[in-house]
Amino acid sequence: MTDNTDNQFTNPNILPTGTPQGQSTLQNPEGVAEETTHFGYQTVKKSEKQAKVAEVFSSVARKYDVMNDLMSFGIHRLWKRYAISLTGVRSGQRVLDIAGGTGDLAKVFSREVGRSGRVVLSDINEAMLEVGRTRLINAGCNNVDFVLANAETLEPFADNSFDLVTISFGLRNVTDKDKALLAMHRVLKPGGRLLVLEFSKPVFEPLSKAYDLYSFTALPLMGKLVANDAESYQYLAESIRMHPDQQTLKAMMENAGFVNCDYHNLTGGIVAVHRGFKAHS
Ligand code: SAM
Repeated sequence: MTDNTDNQFTNPNILPTGTPQGQSTLQNPEGVAEETTHFGYQTVKKSEKQAKVAEVFSSVARKYDVMNDLMSFGIHRLWKRYAISLTGVRSGQRVLDIAGGTGDLAKVFSREVGRSGRVVLSDINEAMLEVGRTRLINAGCNNVDFVLANAETLEPFADNSFDLVTISFGLRNVTDKDKALLAMHRVLKPGGRLLVLEFSKPVFEPLSKAYDLYSFTALPLMGKLVANDAESYQYLAESIRMHPDQQTLKAMMENAGFVNCDYHNLTGGIVAVHRGFKAHS
C-alpha cells in the first residue's frame, strides 16, 4: 500500500521525535510548491496524507479489534480504561469521541452518561465507523449518534456543545494536529475536558530498544498473517515514531487554548494520556 522508496529515515533509532508537521515543500503537477507532512516515514504533500490514512483504515477495519488485542496483548484495554477514569464522565453529559473507530470508548461513555446524556461516535472513515455502529447497536447503546467528521474541522458540531471530548489513538493520523486541537477546543463547553490517548515516547532507553524491535518486526508480520496487510502495520510503527512526544503535545494543547494541561505515562511512556480543559469564560 505504501511506497517506502521515499523513506528518509530507515533507522528507527535515529528518528527525530516531536516533528509532527512537515516543514518542507514538494511541487505539485503544476509546479506549485506544496507544504509537506509525514505519512509514517515518508514525506508526502499535505493534501495527500488524508487519503493515505483512509486507505490504511479502510483496509484494516474488519480486523481492527482482533489486531489491537493481538498486538498489545490486550493491554490497550487497560490503557483505555485508565484514560476513561481521567475523563470524570457523568450521567447526563454530552460526549464526543473523535476518531472513535470501532467504538471502545463510546461504548463505555454510553453506559456512563445514561438516558439523559448523549454520546457521539465520530470518525472520518466510513468503514471504521460502520464497524463501530454495528457493534454499539448490537450492544444496545441507544444514546449514541454516529457522525462522519474530520478531526481537523469537526464541522458538523456546534461551538461549546460537549462536556467531554476524547481522541484515542487517532491524533497521530491527523494531518494538521494544531488545527484539530483548535477544533476540539471550539466544540467543548467552557469548563469542558479533552482527553488524548496516544502512543508516545518511552522513558527508559532499554524499553525503547525492545519496543522498536517489536514494532518493526512483529507488527508488520502479524499484520501480514492476520489482516493480510503488512504495510498498514508498518505505517502504524512509523507513525508512532513520528508523533510528538509528551512535552511537545502538552505545549501544542496549551497553544490551542487548553488550560491545566497534564499527562500521564502508561507502560513506561509507550502510551500517554494528555488532559486539558477549556477555561470557564
Ligand atoms: N479510537 C479508536 C481506538 O482507540 O481503538 C480507533 C483508533 S484508530 C487507530 C484511528 C482512527 O482515526 C481510525 O478510525 C481513522 O479512521 C481515524 N482518523 C484518521 N484520521 C482522521 C481524521 N482526520 N479525522 C477523524 N478521524 C480520523
